Amino acid sequence: MKLLENKVVLITGASRGIGRGIALTLAQHGANIAFTYLSSPEKGMELENILKSHGVKAKGYQSDASQFNAAEQLINQVLTDFEKIDILVNNAGITRDNLLMRMTEEQFDEVLRTNLKSCFNTTKHIQKSMLKQRSGSIINITSVVGEKGNAGQANYAASKAGMIGFTKSVALELGSRNIRCNAIAPGFIETEMTGSLDPATVKGWADAIPMKRGGTVDDIANAVLFFASDLSTYITGQVLHVNGGMYT
Ligand code: NAP
Repeated sequence: MKLLENKVVLITGASRGIGRGIALTLAQHGANIAFTYLSSPEKGMELENILKSHGVKAKGYQSDASQFNAAEQLINQVLTDFEKIDILVNNAGITRDNLLMRMTEEQFDEVLRTNLKSCFNTTKHIQKSMLKQRSGSIINITSVVGEKGNAGQANYAASKAGMIGFTKSVALELGSRNIRCNAIAPGFIETEMTGSLDPATVKGWADAIPMKRGGTVDDIANAVLFFASDLSTYITGQVLHVNGGMYT
């Protein structure tokens, strides 16, 4: 029996990068996958087909994670299509980096809405069905920057720190109903985004990491698998750092 056989997972922002890796790994372990994207319908359709080829049910939804009403519609639609949601992965996220001196109000608000308010939007609307089924695992993808801070990322770091407070509060509120809420804090993960960076810059980052390499999407997906599955049934309110030792 696979670890996530008959489980339904909703992942936000899975058209590429870490979210896509999470979808593929959880499908390999038997989960049926509902996922969202914002601006990449072709990539969403491609992922849907790949997931189906693993023999699981899969469907992509175009939905803006930063919008409260869109999240309500999304959750209702996924519950109609899949009948339940066992695991929620809040992964959708953006950066709008700038030094505070130059950061605009819009850059601050946009990042907070997409990274932090999105967690409220989905969790708020999913809790009723999880309370009813008396089980659930909510996994929020934060960042090492949410604990450490980073020059040029005041907006992003604030959003990721906020996700940690949100995670712990939800864990305290919903633990008695067997609903767990944990966060994963990736360090430097090599995705399409980092693939476009100057190789010397990437090497400089890798050299500063004790394990001497950036992480892969699989490193994060495996941590998500742990929190999603019954391997972690007594773990809630925690932040798991997956960063090769860069923040130790
Ligand atoms: P990415 O490659 O830029 O992918 C972001 C995903 O989020 C895409 O699927 C994108 O969809 C989706 N998205 C963006 N805004 C959205 C919105 N408003 N509503 C719905 N979906 C939206 O990012 P990534 O590197 O995989 O990062 C994934 C998560 O890990 C983020 O929360 C990020 O902060 C966190 N993280 C990443 C790293 C890293 O090194 N990569 C490190 C620490 C934490 P479209 O393609 O449709 O636009």
